[in-house]
Amino acid sequence: MTERIYYREPYRTEFEAQLIDLTAAESGRRFAVLDRTAFYPTSGGQPHDTGSLGSARVVDVLDREDGTVAHVIAGDLGPGSVHGRIDWDRRFEHMQQHTGQHVLSAAFDRLLDARTVSFHLGTTSATIDLAREVSPSDIARAESEANRIVWEDRPVHIRFVDAAEAATLPLRKEPARDGQLRLIDIEGFDLSACGGTHVARTGGIGNIAVNSWERFRGGTRLEFLCGVRVLRGYRALRSCVADGARLLSVMPAELPAAIERLQSDGREWKRKLKESQAARASFEAESLASRAVTSGDIPMVITALSGWDANGLKQIASQVIARPGFFVTLVTAPEPASIVVARSADVPIDSASVLRQLTARFGGKGGGRPELAQGGGLSGSSSEILEFARSVILNPEP
Ligand SMILES: [Zn+2]
Repeated sequence: MTERIYYREPYRTEFEAQLIDLTAAESGRRFAVLDRTAFYPTSGGQPHDTGSLGSARVVDVLDREDGTVAHVIAGDLGPGSVHGRIDWDRRFEHMQQHTGQHVLSAAFDRLLDARTVSFHLGTTSATIDLAREVSPSDIARAESEANRIVWEDRPVHIRFVDAAEAATLPLRKEPARDGQLRLIDIEGFDLSACGGTHVARTGGIGNIAVNSWERFRGGTRLEFLCGVRVLRGYRALRSCVADGARLLSVMPAELPAAIERLQSDGREWKRKLKESQAARASFEAESLASRAVTSGDIPMVITALSGWDANGLKQIASQVIARPGFFVTLVTAPEPASIVVARSADVPIDSASVLRQLTARFGGKGGGRPELAQGGGLSGSSSEILEFARSVILNPEP
């Protein structure tokens, strides 16, 4: 068993201990076991501490079945006495989130009878899962209540009790283990069995902010921030809002309205563009049809067009074949070529078959119906492609 200094002294950042065991781990690292440690191992939803043992870096800390704490170290560690130091910023950030979680969970429990079924504390975000769905106004109420408890700066006591005594206490959640229990007692507000590290008074949490929520397994998953993470989150939001406001030359509060205006302008421009493209396509189709070259009794429009996308080509081809008797092959210039093959209803040519022969020769892909087929990704010059199209139509497959 490793004596866990953090159980009673969560603010302890340095300690002396005896090295008990040193064994090889993966990638040249080693497991160091001490008689006592202030390093918190990953457990109970809270991530491990980092820091140093002597000159070695502690990169991971494991809670082992046999009750020992294994420090995964990178670097050398001699026998005997060792000086340990934990990275306080990381630890304190976890303490703020973890104590904040107890307060927030208790607030949901007390105000809304919404039980916390699980808790996860990650290196950038923390979540709790509530057993039932809660509304945005419920969330705001619990959030306000939790912050009231933070600002009252209530003491957070650490107590150790046996199972018999625990059974007589109003614990928020049934303890998952037997034997001696460690209780975190937020004075007059919450009593929970927990092995995690906590701030000494609720004021140390700083602030609690619910960042987002979603329905999850019949309940609600809430992402929340405490203390230093609220400040970090606020700064990220501030810079994001300031950038947006600068881009649109408005005050931050005017951003939603400005974005709405942009969106509606965008829709209007799109509509106008579509109209103008349709008019241009109609004009182009008229012009192409009047210059069609008759070959094998069929007026043919076989040409390359620049300044049109695949959709434009299709619009033009559709307008030409609305007239009787036409065969059309249009490619975009320059490469890579998009292509449309089409024919009027009364022309006995299979456009899809013509396109198939073109993609067999020039690569790319496409497909369609006998009246109209579209393809793209053909590699070859437009004159080569069009020349081949002409020869396919004049010398059809047997
Ligand atoms: Zn806890």
